[in-house]
Amino acid sequence: MIDFRSDTLTKPTPGMLSAMNKAIVGDDVFGEDPTVNELEKSCADYFGMEAGLFCPSGTMTNQIAIKCHTKPGEEVICDHLSHVYLYEGGGISFNSGASVRLIEGNYGRITAKQVLQSINNPDDVHRPISSLVSLENTANRGGGSCYEFIDFQSIKEVCLQNNLRLHLDGARLFNALVAKKDNPLDYGKIFDSISICLSKGLGAPVGSVLLGNKDFIHRARRFRKVFGGGMRQAGFIAAGALYAITHQVERLAEDHHHAQLIAAALREKDFVGNLFPVETNIVIFEVKGRFTAKDLTQTLAEKGIFAIAMTPTIVRMVIHLDVNYDMISQTIRVIQSL
Ligand SMILES: *Cc1c(COP(=O)(O)O)cnc(C)c1O
Repeated sequence: MIDFRSDTLTKPTPGMLSAMNKAIVGDDVFGEDPTVNELEKSCADYFGMEAGLFCPSGTMTNQIAIKCHTKPGEEVICDHLSHVYLYEGGGISFNSGASVRLIEGNYGRITAKQVLQSINNPDDVHRPISSLVSLENTANRGGGSCYEFIDFQSIKEVCLQNNLRLHLDGARLFNALVAKKDNPLDYGKIFDSISICLSKGLGAPVGSVLLGNKDFIHRARRFRKVFGGGMRQAGFIAAGALYAITHQVERLAEDHHHAQLIAAALREKDFVGNLFPVETNIVIFEVKGRFTAKDLTQTLAEKGIFAIAMTPTIVRMVIHLDVNYDMISQTIRVIQSL
């Protein structure tokens, strides 16, 4: 079985399991789990931010950030394909009572000009108060697309001029760092908060970290408790996450290379329509002619290859550390035979 449905499917490697087994733990709600504290500190230091908060999921880190940055009735500006809008169960309204202004970006990326055009006049009582911009890097529904860092700087300027906070959903930020060779410390200077996932391509079993300044993380810690995300001896899973950020970041380049190989094979096929630009570990393409997206994923599944039909015409394949080169070659042979 070769599973391209998601990079969340990875299992801990033997090295990771052994690190988890040896973890020194305590009660993290009391702030007494040394491994969780170490993970929060190393992630914060990595991005040059003051503090971190370990949470069970990336949905929780995003939702806590939105809760901290907005008040009920205010508005969040984001791309129409954003995870925070499409895939978090309506959490922006459910948890924060905020509304959303959607922007049609370029494969999930929005521009400073689009942000500027989406800010409501704060003196117009009819309009919600725009208070937060949320960006995604890499953009999942944009096919793992990455921003140019300079575009973050332009968006940040618009935010500063208009009293908006800036959040980054960095579920796959490490993929972007590896692909673009960006300096993580630059991210800490631009964003008011960053959410990173350890359980995607990095391969840890559970967990995400929210980063920000001390005051922000202090408030976030309270919301984590309210959301039911305060964990006790969480050091066992934090140890897996620590192992992931020390041992499994550089290898992401291999996943990106594998994604290119799959894309090249797909490009030759008459049933493949628009293939999104492949920049990292995600391959998204339109299916046309002989197959619907479902037909194609079923045909692949019969040959032991699993992909996701995201819409009736769009298929997604995600490359991760449990897919090796032999599996990629096997997949390419199957694609060629269709
Ligand atoms: C996976 C993902 C998240 C968080 O998902 P969880 O499953 O809740 O950890 C957030 N944003 C993006 C873009 C994602 O792909």
